[in-house]
Amino acid sequence: MEQTRMISPIFKQIDPPQRFLMGPGPINAHPRVLRAMSADMLGQFDPEMTEYMNETMALYRQVFMTQNQWTFLVDGTARAGIEAALVSLVEPGAKILIVRAGRFGLLLSEIAERIGAEICTLDLPWGEVASLGQIEAALQEHKPQVLACIHGDTSTTMAQPLDSVGALCKKYNVLSYADVTATLGGVPVCTDRWGIDVISGGLQKCMGGPPGSAPITISDRAAEHIMARRHVEAGIRSASLTDGQRSRISSNYFDLAMVMDYWSEKRLNHHTEATTMLYGAREAACIVLEEGLENRFVRHKMASTALIAGLRAMGLTIFGDDAHRMANVTGVWIPASVDGDKVRMRMRDDFGIEIGTAFGPLTGKIWRIGTMGYNAVKHKVLLTLGALEAALAAEGFKPPRGAAVDAAMASWP
Ligand SMILES: *Cc1c(COP(=O)(O)O)cnc(C)c1O
Repeated sequence: MEQTRMISPIFKQIDPPQRFLMGPGPINAHPRVLRAMSADMLGQFDPEMTEYMNETMALYRQVFMTQNQWTFLVDGTARAGIEAALVSLVEPGAKILIVRAGRFGLLLSEIAERIGAEICTLDLPWGEVASLGQIEAALQEHKPQVLACIHGDTSTTMAQPLDSVGALCKKYNVLSYADVTATLGGVPVCTDRWGIDVISGGLQKCMGGPPGSAPITISDRAAEHIMARRHVEAGIRSASLTDGQRSRISSNYFDLAMVMDYWSEKRLNHHTEATTMLYGAREAACIVLEEGLENRFVRHKMASTALIAGLRAMGLTIFGDDAHRMANVTGVWIPASVDGDKVRMRMRDDFGIEIGTAFGPLTGKIWRIGTMGYNAVKHKVLLTLGALEAALAAEGFKPPRGAAVDAAMASWP
């Protein structure tokens, strides 16, 4: 009793400041998602709970635009989905071809390296995307078991075109994986049309939820490959794999064969489904589908188009080429005369608005401004531009006053 009284007053109740999160993610969660997440727990085999799981699978099939039976949630942030996909697909000693054009491409090779895969890469300067021809040439040269790439790499704000990439991989009998964390729910993710075998995402970007759940979808042929690895005895590792010879999935938590058994009607217990995250992921998908995918893609496009119009009216230069730009995160060169971090601090301290810094070769060179999910709306774009203009002016860069907001308003139909 005495002790409780001594330690309890140290920390106040959680009460984070209100911010507009206009960076590359996380962004503000939709209030409906937060409300769904305040609902009470259910037992994990309660029929209501398993029904919510089935509904979540059905909802995410629509979000991923797929008929894939195996469409469910990996519990953990987006990286958990990436790691589950790679550790379940890629065998130690097997070849993986990774398209690397930004920070998240590097993450794929970091994960594949720990799996003990033989890594081949298609490396591109940050800001570029791979052509279909480059991908085909790399597939022919390396003959990998798996191809892995990023759809929208928020570190560069570029989107890798994926049309025909799945078909190309099938032609060479290669399994394919794409990370769509940044684009899911804001930019078309056409799983079946692309023909990519495994695709995983997250909630904290265009889906308008919090980080902590990774929706994933798996084709039948990839599911067969993963299931076949389940029956391999512990300890078998093969450097040169033949069709009949498979190696065991080295992770327990990320063993997608076991996770699929849990999400199937068998309901074989694996982990405890993260109840609260499931409520949030389910609600986020409901909101996305109520708005309609097409409407949502248009809204994201309008928001970034207006943002870009405003930034250009200020005299700033947009990073990367227009043809491959993501419709939800925009990179903008920091003017040589200003300190990028000071501008960002002013935006946070004076306006409560967060924009993003950059990584790797782009550190200190560009800001990244997100217009995603719940935040891809006119008033938030206008407020962000107005705040950026004032912060730039305070740091000595003098944009034509009022031009940015005017240009963005004119661009919004
Ligand atoms: C934001 C982002 C992630 C985030 O992963 P977390 O584990 O949720 O932090 C992964 N991939 C891409 C392409 C992203 O943009």
